[in-house]
Amino acid sequence: MKEFIYVDNAATTPVSPKVLQAMLPYFTEIYSNASAIYDFGLEAKIVKEDARRKIGAALGARDNEIFFTSGGTESDNWALHGVAELRSSRGKHIITSAIEHSAVLHTAEKLEAQGFEVTYLPVDKNGQITPSDLVAAIRPDTILVSIMLANNEIGTILPIKELCNAVKMQDRQIIFHTDAVQAAGHIPLDVNDLGVDLLSLSAHKFNGPKGIGALYAKVGKALPPYITGGGQERGRRSGTDNIPGIVGMAEALDEAVKNFDVSIPKIAKLRNRLIDGVLKIPGAHLTGDPINRLPGTASFVFDGLVLQPIVKRLGDYGICASAGSACSAGSGSPARVLVAAGYSEEMSTASLRMSLSENNTEDEIAYIIEKVEVVIGLLRTEKNTFVSSR
Ligand code: PLP
Repeated sequence: MKEFIYVDNAATTPVSPKVLQAMLPYFTEIYSNASAIYDFGLEAKIVKEDARRKIGAALGARDNEIFFTSGGTESDNWALHGVAELRSSRGKHIITSAIEHSAVLHTAEKLEAQGFEVTYLPVDKNGQITPSDLVAAIRPDTILVSIMLANNEIGTILPIKELCNAVKMQDRQIIFHTDAVQAAGHIPLDVNDLGVDLLSLSAHKFNGPKGIGALYAKVGKALPPYITGGGQERGRRSGTDNIPGIVGMAEALDEAVKNFDVSIPKIAKLRNRLIDGVLKIPGAHLTGDPINRLPGTASFVFDGLVLQPIVKRLGDYGICASAGSACSAGSGSPARVLVAAGYSEEMSTASLRMSLSENNTEDEIAYIIEKVEVVIGLLRTEKNTFVSSR
C-alpha cells in the first residue's frame, strides 16, 4: 500500500509523466516569448498554435475559438463579465444554477451588485435542471445562461445539450456558457453537439499543470477583453503566454481523450464498487444523480452525522478525500450544493466526496470501504456518547 491513497481528483490531479516530458523543454530550452519577432520567439509561437489546434480538435472546435487563460476561475469570470459588458444594452438578466462553482456564483453576485439581475435556478434531488424549468426563467431581458456541465461536489452531469437547445429555440440571442471544468478530459465533449457559445476548462483537472485553462468562444461570440495589456490572444486576453502550461494542457487533453475507451469504463467500475460498498453502511446515501454522473465521482451523506469530521478521520488512515464543501476547511458550514439539492442543513455538514482516477486500484477501493465503515461507526458512537453524557 502507498503512503496515502488519493481520491480527490476533482480537486486536482497529478501531471502525467508524458505531459511533464512534453512541457520540460519550454522551461529551459525554448523559453522565448511567443510575442517576440525573431526566430527563437517564433518557435514558441508555433508550439502555442499547435497546442491551440490540438485543444480545438479535442473539443470539436476551430482553433480560433480557443483562448488561453490562467484556469477555470478566470474562464468563468471572463464569460460572465464579458457577456455582461457585451450585452448590457440589450438586457441585464442572467440565469445560472444554485449549484455552480464559486467562480460563477461569486461573479454573478458581483454583477448583481453592479445592477444585473440573476436567477439562481433550483435543482432536484439529483442536482438536475429540466429544459422547461430553464425556459420558464427566461425573460425578454435575459442575456446569458451559465449552467455547469458537471458538478464538482456531487458529480451530476447536467443535460447541457437539451438545456442549450431549449434556450436557442427561444430565438432571443441569449448566450449560453457552460463551466466544463469537471467534465473536460473526463467525458467526451463536442462543443458543436452541445451547441454552447462559451465553455470553460482547466488543465489541472485532467492531469495537466495548474495555472492554465481555456475559454472556448464560438465564432462570432468572442468576448471583449477581461484582462488588458500587451494584446496577446488576438487582443482578447493579455499576458505573456504560459508556453509550458499551454503545451502541457494540450498534451493532457489529447492523452485523456485518446484514452477514454480504456479509462472511463475502468474508473466507472471502481466508482461503482466504491458506491456499492459504502451504501452497505446503514444510513449511507449516495448524493447526485445515480446514473448521469462523472465516471470517477462518488459522494455521500450519512444519517445521524452532523458536523462530523469524516474527511479528517479518513485522512488519519491515509485517505485523501474531500467534503466537497467549506466543511473541509473546518468552517462547519453545510455543503451549499447539497442544501440546494434538498438535503437538510444538518446532514449537509457531514458529507464525503471521493473522486477516482485510473491510478486507483481494486485493493485501494476495498481499503477505503473498510475505513469509511470504521470512521462512520466511530463518529456515530462518539456522537451518541457525547449526547448521552450531557
Ligand atoms: N469550476 C469548477 C466546476 C471547478 O470544479 C473548479 C475548480 O475546482 C473551477 C471552476 C475553478 O477552476 P481553477 O481551479 O482552474 O481556477
